[in-house]
Formats: sequence, C-alpha cells, structure tokens
Amino acid sequence: MPPELKSVRERLLAFPSRLEGLDAHKIESFLASRKLNHTNYVVHYSEDIPEIESILGHNYIDEPSIGGIFIPELDIVLVLRDKELEENNGTAFTEGKIIHELAHSAKPQPLDYTEFPNNRLLGLLPGISLKTPSSGFLEGLDTENSSGWFIEEGFADLMRGEYIALNMPNEVKKAIINSDTELLGLGERRAQVVKYAYLDHNDEVKIMNSSHAALAIELLCEKEPLLREELLNGRNDLSVGERIKNYVNRLSPGLYDKLNQLDYTSGDFVEGLRMVVKEVYLKSETDGELQT
Ligand SMILES: [Zn+2]
Repeated sequence: MPPELKSVRERLLAFPSRLEGLDAHKIESFLASRKLNHTNYVVHYSEDIPEIESILGHNYIDEPSIGGIFIPELDIVLVLRDKELEENNGTAFTEGKIIHELAHSAKPQPLDYTEFPNNRLLGLLPGISLKTPSSGFLEGLDTENSSGWFIEEGFADLMRGEYIALNMPNEVKKAIINSDTELLGLGERRAQVVKYAYLDHNDEVKIMNSSHAALAIELLCEKEPLLREELLNGRNDLSVGERIKNYVNRLSPGLYDKLNQLDYTSGDFVEGLRMVVKEVYLKSETDGELQT
C-alpha cells in the first residue's frame, strides 16, 4: 500500500472503535465459519463523522441512517452505528452491517496498487476518490461499464441476512412478520425473508436495496446449493468465477450476464430479483406442479 494511503488507514484504525455492547467475537466466528478472510473495521457514531471525514478528506456517507462502507483502496471497513435503529432492532442490526461490509472485504489477495496509473494515485489525495479496477465480484470499476454489482451486493447482504437470521431478537421478528408490509414480494416466504427487514426510525418495516439481490442469490442457491459454496470459494480463489457463471446459466440460460450487467441502483436490484423469481423460482414451481 502506498505510504500516503497507509498513513490514512493507520489514522482511521487509531480511531477508538465504538464497539461497546457489540459481540465482536460472534462476528469473527460467523465469518471464520464461512472462511471469509476479512479486513479491519472501525465502528463510529454519527457524532464521530466529522472526525472520520477529516481523516478521509471527504464526505463518505450518503445515507447516514444505514451507512457502512468497504474502501478497497484503504482496505478498511467503516460502519456507522445508529443508536435508534439499534434500539428498534437490537445490536445484531449493527453487527449485521459489519458482516455485510466485511464480506465485501473478503478477497483472495491484497490489492495490486501497481494497476493504478501514478497520476491517478496522486490525484487521490486528500480526496480518496480512486476506484479499484476490481473488488470481490465487481469488475471494471475504473470504467463506465462496471459489472458484478448484483452478485457482489447480493452475496454481502446474504451473509448479513444469514447472521441476522441467527441473531434477530424474537420481538423484532414478530413485529416484522405481523406487520402488513410487503416483504420482497414473496408472501409465502415471509418467515424466511424477515431476516432482510428492519424497523426504521418510525418503526416502519424497511428493506435495504441490496436485500433484493440477496434474496435472488438465496433463491438461486436453493436450486443449486453448490452455487453458495462457490460464492464462498470465490472470496478466496479468483478462478471459480467461470463455475459461478455456469451454475447460474444452468438454472436459466443467459441469466448470469443479465444479472451481472445490472447497476447499483434500487431499480436494477428489484429488476434482478424479478428476473430470478420469473426465470428460476416460479418456473421450477410450475415444473413441480406439472410433474405431480
Ligand atoms: Zn454492500
């Protein structure tokens, strides 16, 4: 890591992470059980944002209520701890955000900084706006045509969902299940999908954008359990990319490319879930009926 970035990283890591009441050990063992080699993380409150941003040299959180980020260039995860959301959803809510961001950070090898042209690296400071060419399942981040957002976000949020499913307080689960809010459009899967939902500042049930992609990945993995294994392998071994592609395309020809091209927008993530429901989930339900 270039010394300029290393110094920013060290200053961030020197920040006293706000871990009180969080179960860091549980986070570690969850990630270890999935062989996700992750980076360091810093948890902070909203009142700490000016200090974090003064170290980073720019604004970094657009949506303060659910903020969290993995910054590949600095190999660090920053997570905003929202006291009200934690009151509504338990500390597992924040731990889940840490899991999501750390899952993004799980990768086979350190970032190759020589891939960056020098002038761009120098242009980075103090504003740190450099984009790595690839990160996790993301590719072409330094171009106009980046790809892999749906699978990368879906994977990270599936990990968060799996953690939440194990740790969501019962009263939160009940409140969400008993609400009349539509949960990701699969009414009959309400008990399964509840792990992606949370109670916002007004006690309303909300779903994060990435959860649409997570549910889509979960449905694909239900049809092809080896896909989940390969997604986890993919965080340690770049060569499994082709196998992931083949598993998805075997479920529906051409589906991988369609999902891979989706952008990091709520509209695209909803569209991707719709595709998976239509081409894989409903299709196999119908197939099942036809066979009986
Ligand atoms: Zn994410």
